[in-house]
Amino acid sequence: MRKKTALIHGGVSVDPNTGALSLPISQASTFRQKKVGDFVYEYARTGNPTREGVETLIADLEGGDRGFAFASGMAAITTVMDLFKKGDHLIVTDDVYGGTYRFFTKVLANRGIQVDFVDTSDEAAVRKAIQSETKALYLETPTNPLLKITSIQTMGEIAKEIGALLIVDNTFSTPYWQTPIAKGADIVVHSATKYLGGHSDVVAGLVVTANRQLSEHLAFLQNSTGAVLGPNDSWLVQRGMKTLGVRMEEIEQNTSAIANFLNQHKAVEKVYYPGLSNHQGREVHISQANGFGGMLSFTVKDESTALRVLDRVQYFTLAESLGAVESLISLPAKMTHASIPRERRLELGIEDGLIRLSVGLEDVHDLIDDLDQALA
Ligand SMILES: *Cc1c(COP(=O)(O)O)cnc(C)c1O
Repeated sequence: MRKKTALIHGGVSVDPNTGALSLPISQASTFRQKKVGDFVYEYARTGNPTREGVETLIADLEGGDRGFAFASGMAAITTVMDLFKKGDHLIVTDDVYGGTYRFFTKVLANRGIQVDFVDTSDEAAVRKAIQSETKALYLETPTNPLLKITSIQTMGEIAKEIGALLIVDNTFSTPYWQTPIAKGADIVVHSATKYLGGHSDVVAGLVVTANRQLSEHLAFLQNSTGAVLGPNDSWLVQRGMKTLGVRMEEIEQNTSAIANFLNQHKAVEKVYYPGLSNHQGREVHISQANGFGGMLSFTVKDESTALRVLDRVQYFTLAESLGAVESLISLPAKMTHASIPRERRLELGIEDGLIRLSVGLEDVHDLIDDLDQALA
């Protein structure tokens, strides 16, 4: 089954009881047992048919063993981190999502779990950071906001060598473009709030495990800590995912056109988009993904120029988040990455005039005209 077909026919896509093509929202907390212990579902924290719809679908799409749905991307990530214990050491991509960085530095650190933030696109740097207690490599590729690329396969090989897990946050590429388990990942996490939901109307997280042993452990943790996705939100995510293929194709076309437009605009200094021929890591990205996605960043001269662009655009909404039908624009230095000290930000390449776009589904001519007048 190819991806667009799997999005519609994968997982449990038809209600086995009524034949409904949209799974019913099973607004139920508990389920009747025919005899003691004779049941399909027991209690809705442990399992709910609507949640199972989205869980089986994401497992199919990622080519994993089992899927799990959580109340947010962060709930998904924190539950995966419950696999680790005091004394364990993790190596994490240095420009991970801000909320993930906050969780690793302010919450996990208090549990005695040590985290090193490393440029995972640099194999030697990763190898240098390995300790005897290293239990996982955790990465994002492409990253936010500079679209840095890490080889999933190389990280998978390192993880195997040292007996650690490889965990990949696949939010930016989605399984439509990239399936990390096929490249050696043990666990994939998602903020389904973004492209999978796709309509700025739900907060959700997903996890996919690569093998039965990890699945059993994750099922135990999901049931034990309980940050599950409710039936209404499960339904919204599955409904959103049915159109993921067409959305990602169209979003990528729009983003490529915008990248080419910005690349030749004299007010723009640099464009970051893996689809551009000069993007660092482009070859690695092409080797592991079938598309370039809808995230793009570019720099203008300085902060005041950037603020003027943000002020002038009409169709790019000033907002955090990404991956929806609406095009969004943001200024990482003042928004998502404001908590990072300026020195460190500049070291990472997040300049004051860096603008991030999440390209949506508006007519691309309107989007380009809009950027053109804002940059004038
Ligand atoms: C948004 C996001 C998260 C966190 O997900 P929430 O649904 O907001 O909790 C994690 N990783 C990435 C890459 C994200 O973009």
